[in-house]
Amino acid sequence: MKFGFDIDDTLIDLRAHAFSLYNKKLEKNIPIEIFQALQRVEIHEPFGLTDSQGSAMWNSSLEEIYFTDCPIFEQALETLQGLNQQGHDIYYITSRPKHYCAQTQEWMSTLGFPIKEGHFFCGMQDAEKVAIIKNLALDVYVDDKPAVLETLQNIETKVILKNQSYNEHVQLPRLHHWHEFDNIIKA
Ligand SMILES: [Mg+2]
Repeated sequence: MKFGFDIDDTLIDLRAHAFSLYNKKLEKNIPIEIFQALQRVEIHEPFGLTDSQGSAMWNSSLEEIYFTDCPIFEQALETLQGLNQQGHDIYYITSRPKHYCAQTQEWMSTLGFPIKEGHFFCGMQDAEKVAIIKNLALDVYVDDKPAVLETLQNIETKVILKNQSYNEHVQLPRLHHWHEFDNIIKA
């Protein structure tokens, strides 16, 4: 089978990692419960930043957010390694900016994610993911972002939602924890 995965906030806990970096950089101590209740993807509001300040902070911190010690969600790595060992095709589809793509692929490889040549797609807009998913004729695709998931209605691919506080309204099979993955794809 062909499996596709978004990376940020699907396989790795990027926003939580960024939230902890923001606490350090801004010398704050905003508790993780505030993060866990956020109803939007952006994380700057609890730090008292406006949207434009938040966007500037995000963009200027990106390299540090992406390539330091962002944790992988528990069991995500093992799940993908298991699929790879069973002979399935694994694709990554991330809308990280183009100039971070090569470094991202290398970083993922170093962590142990199985990446075959031609199986790493990066640098597209969120709304462009759907064309790649259709062209690849993926059997299963996992993502967290409502803006992406809304473009994936009426396709043959089984779309699975990685649970996050900002996607509670989306009606799709929901993955709370990676150990549930096998059961969700069988359902
Ligand atoms: Mg994502």
